[in-house]
Amino acid sequence: MAQPIGRHFLHVPGPTNVPDRVLRAMSAPTIDHRGPEFAALAAEVLAGLRPLFGTTGPVVVHPSSGTGAWEAALVNTLSPGDRVLAFETGHFAALWREMAEKLGLRVDFVPGDWRHGIDPEVVRERLAADPDGEIRAVCAVHNETSTGVTSRIAEVRRALDAVGHPALLLVDTISSLGSVDYRHDEWGVDVTIACSQKGLMLPPGLGFNAISAKALRATESARLPRSYWDWRPQLAANERGFFPSTPATNLLFGLREALALLDEEGLPAVFRRHLRHAAATRAAVRGWGLEVLCLDEREHSPALTAVLLPDGHDADEFRRVVLERCNTSLGAGLGKLAGRVFRIGHLGHLNDVGLAAALSGVQLGLAAAGVPFDERGITAALAELGEA
Ligand SMILES: *Cc1c(COP(=O)(O)O)cnc(C)c1O
Repeated sequence: MAQPIGRHFLHVPGPTNVPDRVLRAMSAPTIDHRGPEFAALAAEVLAGLRPLFGTTGPVVVHPSSGTGAWEAALVNTLSPGDRVLAFETGHFAALWREMAEKLGLRVDFVPGDWRHGIDPEVVRERLAADPDGEIRAVCAVHNETSTGVTSRIAEVRRALDAVGHPALLLVDTISSLGSVDYRHDEWGVDVTIACSQKGLMLPPGLGFNAISAKALRATESARLPRSYWDWRPQLAANERGFFPSTPATNLLFGLREALALLDEEGLPAVFRRHLRHAAATRAAVRGWGLEVLCLDEREHSPALTAVLLPDGHDADEFRRVVLERCNTSLGAGLGKLAGRVFRIGHLGHLNDVGLAAALSGVQLGLAAAGVPFDERGITAALAELGEA
C-alpha cells in the first residue's frame, strides 16, 4: 500500500498526538534505574504530577495502561464481597464494573442511557438507603470516553457529604486529566485513576493513582489479593526516588517533558483551550445537521465529542472512508454504540488549525460517504474559533 502524503491526523480520544518535544525526550538512552540520575528524575515527576491531580498527597505510577490503574485502585482499598456503587454512564463504566465483579466485589450498577452523566441526586438516594454504610466505595468515571459526557464530580462529592456516607470515592480521570479541570483534594476524591496516552500527550504505558489519606488507611484492612499492584512497596521505594521493579524509564523522560509543556501553557489555559475546541466541534456537528450524543448542556466533554449518524448510515464505514480519503483517524462507537456513533477526539496537543483540519476531514468524509449534511458545519466551527 502506498504511504499517504502529508501528516496523519490522529483524532481518536486516546491515544493522542505526542508532541515532538516529548518524542525527543523519550529518545534519550535508557539509564540505570537504581542510579542517582534516575532518583532525580523520579523525584521530579512524582512531585510534578501532584498539581496536575490537584493534590498534595502521593501519586503512584504503574507501568500499565489505564485498566491496570483501575485494578490497583480496587485491590488496594477493598475486600472480597464488598459492595460498591457504580453508574452505567457508558462503555468504560461497564468495563470497570465487569472488572470489579471478576475481583469478587458486589456492584450496585445504576442503569443509564449512555447520553447522561452520573445524577448526583441518585447518588444521594442510593447512599441514603444504606444507613449501615455497607457500600464501601463509589466508582465514578469523570469523562466517559465512549459517549463524550463529563460527570460533575464535585456534585457527586456533595451527595456523599449530604448523607454523611463513609464510602471511598474512586474516580476514573483517564480521558480528562490534563484536559478538564479536576481537583483531587478539593473534591474529596480518595483514589484518582489516570494514564499516559490521553490528555497527558504521551504514548500508552503509564498508569497513575493519586491516593488520599483515607484511601491509604483503607489499604491496611483491604483483603483483595494484590502483589504487583500493591501501593505500599511502591510508596516506600518512591520515598528514595526508586521503584520496586523496573520502571518505564523512557516514558518517565517523556512525562517530565509533558509536565513541562502543561506547566508552560498553564493548566487554566489548557482547560480553556479544550473548552473552546469542544464548543467549536459542537458548532460544526450542529451546523452539519447531525446530533451530538450528550444530551445535557452541563455535561458536554471538553475532550471529545460523540456524534450520531442518521439511521441507515454505518459509522464504521464512514470512519473507513475518512481514513482512506483524508488520512484522519476518528474514534469508533463502542459497545452498544458500535456502528451508530463516531467520536472526534479534541484533547491533548492540539491547536485551532489542527482542530479545523480534523473537522474539514469529517466534512469531506460526510460528502464522500454519501451522508446527508449541511456545508455550514465547518463555517460554524471557524466562527466559533474566531470569536474566542
Ligand atoms: C481509555 C479509557 C480506559 C481504558 O484505558 P486503557 O489505557 O485502554 O487500559 C478506561 N476508562 C476511560 C474513561 C478511558 O477513556
